[in-house]
Amino acid sequence: MRDITAPESARWRRFVDVFERTVSAAGYELVIPPLLEDIGVFTRLGEATDVVTKEMYDFVDKGERHVALRPEQTASICRSFVEHRPTTPFKAWYSGPNFRYEKPQRGRYRQFDQVGIEVLGSLDPYVDIEVIHLGWIFFKKLGLQQIELAVNSLGEPENRTAYVAALKSYFNDRLADLSPESQQTLEKNPLRVLDSKRPQDSDVIAGAPMINSFWSAEAAAHFDTVCNGLTSLGVPFSIDLKLVRGLDYYRGTTFEFRGGTLDSAQNALGGGGRYDGLVADLGGPDTPGVGFAIGLDRTLLACDDEGTFPSPPDAADVFVVDVGDGIDALLICAELRAAGIRTERSWDNRSMKAQMKAANRSGARFAVLIGEDERLAGIALLRDLRSDAEQVSVARTELQATLISRLSSLQGAE
Ligand code: AMP
Repeated sequence: MRDITAPESARWRRFVDVFERTVSAAGYELVIPPLLEDIGVFTRLGEATDVVTKEMYDFVDKGERHVALRPEQTASICRSFVEHRPTTPFKAWYSGPNFRYEKPQRGRYRQFDQVGIEVLGSLDPYVDIEVIHLGWIFFKKLGLQQIELAVNSLGEPENRTAYVAALKSYFNDRLADLSPESQQTLEKNPLRVLDSKRPQDSDVIAGAPMINSFWSAEAAAHFDTVCNGLTSLGVPFSIDLKLVRGLDYYRGTTFEFRGGTLDSAQNALGGGGRYDGLVADLGGPDTPGVGFAIGLDRTLLACDDEGTFPSPPDAADVFVVDVGDGIDALLICAELRAAGIRTERSWDNRSMKAQMKAANRSGARFAVLIGEDERLAGIALLRDLRSDAEQVSVARTELQATLISRLSSLQGAE
């Protein structure tokens, strides 16, 4: 776990802002679930996922409740849906930290933030298309060019069950050729063997049965509509029949956004799909769902690689240099800040030279200089810190209006 400090912290805030603008334009509402839930909320995600079995931060609290820090937020959104029963289709977005006891490495941490959306209550393939498209638009808004979208379908639950059985038997026949890790995965969740990036497994995986031969006519038609919709929107994608998602609840459409500049073992920036049964299992009515989660860390690494979405500039507009007793700086700062001008000052009665140095370091465009003489004359000196330190005298009563007009004409020129 780590601190996110400035200027990266400002970039995180902007990341969530861009996401919020993208999804609220499509009518998604913010849900803020708690960080801590009853462990049952997450164990329902499936005993076959590492996220649940190995990586959860769980403990018994002082009231003898077995609780867990959320490892993801889909289950929390579904639990919240069951509790509040909003009308369907229910369209929610979220952002915030999750916790997984994983081996920390570049782009993978034990506390990490995700943004995501979920739509509960509709089986319409156009919902799948909307969800995928919103993810796509978001990456484009960040300025990312090298995003690869992979889509697949796990078919209907019966198709998936038949496919899992076929996979199991196929892999069991070739057990000795699989890596020891994949042999273990096979016992718990045969689908996840397809996720293995270990070279030893690649030949066996290449020959494995493919899900499309198990799709029902309805599942195939649904997937066709999704693919056609994406094509109509001009969203490029590839069909990856080996794309399975971690959770037992996934069925139908699955998809993943990959960063073209990242190493293939760590290139998933986000992903999602349709899930069923989760809402019912949490005590609600039978309700289909579809959504995605996007990780901040890896997405920002992709932005770094592509030289896009930099940290926002962190500079003051104005720095007040008070060589008197400090009361003028106090009042001028209060006045300018109330007018929305980012204003800084120094403390501890520092010398004029030291204050000017701080002003330059702050990145402020203007310095306001004031001392006894200026106060008595009812003026302040306004110095442009970049334009050859041009300095003018301004009536104290005109200071705010002058700064607003100078700053806005600079902004206009940018
Ligand atoms: P998942 O919830 O496992 O489907 O992951 C969705 C996305 O969240 C991934 O593609 C990553 O971008 C991000 N993610 C998952 N686990 C971590 C982690 N431990 N640290 C940072 N990002 C993560």
